[in-house]
Amino acid sequence: MTLKIKFRRPKEIKEGCTPETWARRELQEILRAIEADCTECGLCVKRCVFLQRYGTPKAIASSRHGGNIRGLVEAFECSLCGLCQAVCPFGVRPSELFLELRREAVLRGVANLPEHRGLLAYERKGTSRRYSLYAIPDGCTTVFFPGCTFAGTRSEAVLAIQQHVHRIIPNLGVVLDCCTKPSHDLGRHAYFLAMFGEMKNYLMAQGVSTVLVACPNCYKVFRRYGAPLQVRTIYEVFAEDRALPQVHLKGTVTIHDPCVMRDEAAVQKAVRTLVDTAGLEVEEMPGSRQRTLCCGEGGGVGSVAPELARQWRVERREQAGKRPVVTYCAGCVGQLRRTMNAIHIMDLLLDGDAALAGRARVSRSPFTYWKRLRLKETLRRRYTGAHLRERTDQGEAPKSGFSWWKSLVLAAVLTVAVFGLHAVELSRYLERDILEAWIESYGALAPLIYMLV
Ligand code: SF4
Ligand code: SF4
Repeated sequence: MTLKIKFRRPKEIKEGCTPETWARRELQEILRAIEADCTECGLCVKRCVFLQRYGTPKAIASSRHGGNIRGLVEAFECSLCGLCQAVCPFGVRPSELFLELRREAVLRGVANLPEHRGLLAYERKGTSRRYSLYAIPDGCTTVFFPGCTFAGTRSEAVLAIQQHVHRIIPNLGVVLDCCTKPSHDLGRHAYFLAMFGEMKNYLMAQGVSTVLVACPNCYKVFRRYGAPLQVRTIYEVFAEDRALPQVHLKGTVTIHDPCVMRDEAAVQKAVRTLVDTAGLEVEEMPGSRQRTLCCGEGGGVGSVAPELARQWRVERREQAGKRPVVTYCAGCVGQLRRTMNAIHIMDLLLDGDAALAGRARVSRSPFTYWKRLRLKETLRRRYTGAHLRERTDQGEAPKSGFSWWKSLVLAAVLTVAVFGLHAVELSRYLERDILEAWIESYGALAPLIYMLV
């Protein structure tokens, strides 16, 4: 079944109010609240590399009242990590201001930054027909939603998790799709609401009531926008049901809680239970749980202000010392492992010794795209007989920069190549299994060969 995406007005928009005035009203409200409540005590500034660059939330709010364009673009340097509001004794919520400023920048047409193209293209692949898959068996009320990065970097783990959870929940379904949090964080609110809303409506129409996620960012999106769907992490399921084989490890680790999970005490506890059950001792960092730090990836800040992303990582490394850092976000692992031994909790549970030694079986880009396609095919085979769909409507398309004439030239080259292979009787190499085996035989060069093919 294909649902047509309609860009409906967000529910929050009241009658007689355009999206533009709605965003500005939200923005004016938060500007006024920060100006009234922030005492400029400096507690948040001391913890935040972004505020150290731009000043206290009150100073920023006062300077933004005129809505100057430079100020709107600077909001993209905030990680949206929420540490400021976690430490503020007066209940001020600066990260909400920076999200509103981003939305304002989009509405005014000044947010089309070239630095964001990579992130948006990544999201667009996730929601595309090629990469998406909904596999919903009869009687399914719960689906496993691994998320783009976890599925790409750990496709074997996705299959292992699906198999284990299937024993607990026999009618478990699987969804490969993107929750579109990149668009949410980049202020593309109407697009985000349309795309996420379509996914949510489709799942509900199929009778799904619970979504099990592996990615904290997906968790945050489903939690905030997914009601009445329930969302849980696979870490809570494993901590309760002991569904995975037991591992017996020795040593001391510390835990990095992803910033989007700072208020999720139950998930934090589940992850610690799993680490403890694996036989490891946990030493907490000062910035853990509600006071956790950004890994450098939050809010897409790494693409516009890589030096700020680096500073967040440096701070995290100083707190971690020489201890291995266990976390439960594939994106955080990708960021942190640049400067420390960062381990995903699933790598630890599936092959603990290799993970602790820094040898976890993790795919790196561009292999991740290849892995996601193979994962989709494997799941499609596992779910023969289930109701399947691919996403076919992605709404408005950001410009890809790939012009029609380039497509034409590429199509012509491919056509000549295919006819050429037929002419010399080598067309059997175009059969899928033979092609896959041939590409894999190139080892480290496989992704390059795959892209060329
Ligand atoms: S959300 Fe994070 S990066 Fe942004 S101002 Fe607050 S503490 Fe700083
Ligand atoms: S901690 Fe709160 S009151 Fe203090 S400067 Fe930050 S936002 Fe203002």
